[in-house]
Amino acid sequence: MLKYAKVAVPVPLKQEFTYSFDDGVLNVVPGIRVMVPFGRREVQGYVVDVLDSRPDVGFEIKAVSKAIDKEPLFGKREYELALWMERFYFSSRGEILDVMIPGGRRDSSFGALDFGEPVFKKDVVLTAEQSGAVETVMGAQSGLFYLFGVTGSGKTEVFLQCAERVIAQGGQVIYLVPEITLTHQLAVQVMERFKNNVAILHSGLTDSQRIAQWRRIKRSEVSLVIGARSAVFAPCENLRMIIIDEEHENSYKSGNDPRYHARQVAQKRIADCHGKLLMGSATPSLEAWHLMKDPSRMTRIDLTSRVGGGCMPKVEIADMTHEDGIFGKTLQLEMARTLGAGKQVILFLNRRGYSYYFHCRSCGYELKCPHCDVAMTYHKKTGTLKCHYCGYTQKPTRVCPVCGSLDVMYSGFGTEQVEQEVQRLFPQYRTARLDTDVVSKDRKIIQKTLDEFRAGSLDILIGTQMVAKGLNFPNVQLVGIVLADSGLLVPDFRAEERTFDLLVQVAGRSGRADSNGRVVVQTRMKDNPAIVMASKGEVEAFFDNELKLRKDLGFPPFSRMVNLVVRSPKASVARAFAESLASELRGKAAFFGFDVQVYGANECPIEKIRANFRFQVLLRSFKPSDMLSLLENVLSYTSVPSSVVLEIDVDPVDLL
Ligand code: ADP
Ligand code: ZN
Ligand code: ZN
Repeated sequence: MLKYAKVAVPVPLKQEFTYSFDDGVLNVVPGIRVMVPFGRREVQGYVVDVLDSRPDVGFEIKAVSKAIDKEPLFGKREYELALWMERFYFSSRGEILDVMIPGGRRDSSFGALDFGEPVFKKDVVLTAEQSGAVETVMGAQSGLFYLFGVTGSGKTEVFLQCAERVIAQGGQVIYLVPEITLTHQLAVQVMERFKNNVAILHSGLTDSQRIAQWRRIKRSEVSLVIGARSAVFAPCENLRMIIIDEEHENSYKSGNDPRYHARQVAQKRIADCHGKLLMGSATPSLEAWHLMKDPSRMTRIDLTSRVGGGCMPKVEIADMTHEDGIFGKTLQLEMARTLGAGKQVILFLNRRGYSYYFHCRSCGYELKCPHCDVAMTYHKKTGTLKCHYCGYTQKPTRVCPVCGSLDVMYSGFGTEQVEQEVQRLFPQYRTARLDTDVVSKDRKIIQKTLDEFRAGSLDILIGTQMVAKGLNFPNVQLVGIVLADSGLLVPDFRAEERTFDLLVQVAGRSGRADSNGRVVVQTRMKDNPAIVMASKGEVEAFFDNELKLRKDLGFPPFSRMVNLVVRSPKASVARAFAESLASELRGKAAFFGFDVQVYGANECPIEKIRANFRFQVLLRSFKPSDMLSLLENVLSYTSVPSSVVLEIDVDPVDLL
């Protein structure tokens, strides 16, 4: 018999499309993937409904080409979540299902699984603070909980014990970790404890392996799901708890459509199932910090001391204003002292490459990537200038390409130059570097380097973000932050928050097992509040202060924002569309009396990426429903020119 399927297709249209199929030939049921013709292409779509009779559509109905799955991959719950996301994030259900369900478009990050940290103790006895935390969470029926605990306070153990208790009561738990901290250690720990009862979603899985894991979850064959951002979609039928480790991490926010935040999706899922959302960090997001101020919305649980014999490190600010080299006197002395005592050093710098700023002293020319509005980075080992946004490379130059002057200079330094300087200053010690340049050649290097560092066959580890978080090396007694300032120069209202988080997290790698941990923070902005307060470990004061600033300035979390980015290879087209969009939004806001401010159109802080010119229109409102109505209204009749892409970012985490 001829039947009809309503299919969500991954295109930016908020609707389903009807296709026919012969149910004697194809077994099409709601929840499976199908191939369907769409325009001149064949695309993978998601069947959301099956009808016996022909629906009333005024055009020819095409046929389903192929049924991909034998049994459903998603149900009503996932579909309804997709519809909620469609409204919340201005994406389309087809694009959302495509990211949600394995076998579609890959969400850019899945959590790598190649870090190693085999230090793990069986049968830990919880400290009083830890068990108090578990009791608080388990004593409640439902709600939001925040484990605010200093680095090394044993948050993981609290998470795992809560998960165990929920599972013992027959519930399912989703455990989210940031991409870079889906550690081998955590995986091993979880496998040991939960045996076959766990599904680990990581980037090493093929599509069909991911689908297999997904089916196990859906059939309730596992009780614990662990993974990065997109694991928040795991189709648990009996979801009782979602755990978000390192809640402040930006990797929980998707950088591509749909630009969802795992925390927001988790909150929605937990509200729907009346379960518990348990988050934790040493440096909460301002959003979470704001929620914690109201105990009726979120329960705050403090872990104030380090477990396992560690103490918080002593932090010193080293003023670099009058120092020339990469290493000031303080850091050099501390390094010599620490290494001399047979202890290890971690050096952190959030910039890779050798140097990154080419400047002509005759005419002022600054060399930038021809496709992006960003400075090129010089990589000495490969002898190239490279753009970190689009990967464009060129040969380094010794003359100014504009005026021909030879009076040019490269300045600023990255991890590659730090490594060279360390080898010069401390030739007798063994050094290794970890950053994406090293790792992109061979991912196994991470594991190998960390193993060597742990085993003590390396003395100094240099790196970017990669060495900043989650790592637990008892023998590290000094962390040197080579330059704390780079993140502060970025034109973004979250720059200070992000710098503060990073400094506290990096500092937290020192003194994990004893009381002699030290941190040296090199800076040319020694009075900056983020640097001062991170150094003093004044976490609460920083967040309270930052929250007050945000309130005074009307920034999130007190207001909400939507960032509309218009990009096109043609600057004039992008600008014209962005301007018309802005004036349309402004006009309609005034007409309806909506409480929405419209800023722009302006060039984005990074005006050009991958040869696309970028303009932004920023919306801000203290009444989010007004903002969403306004946007819905204007988008309903706006047609985006074909050479233009419009990105809609609700609650953006950066405005670059
Ligand atoms: P956090 O996530 O809060 O920074 P971790 O969860 O990484 O801290 O814990 C730090 C270390 O302390 C880990 O090696 C962990 O195994 C250990 N640990 C956790 N709880 C206890 C405990 N109750 N007793 C002893 N060691 C513990
Ligand atoms: Zn010049
Ligand atoms: Zn580029």
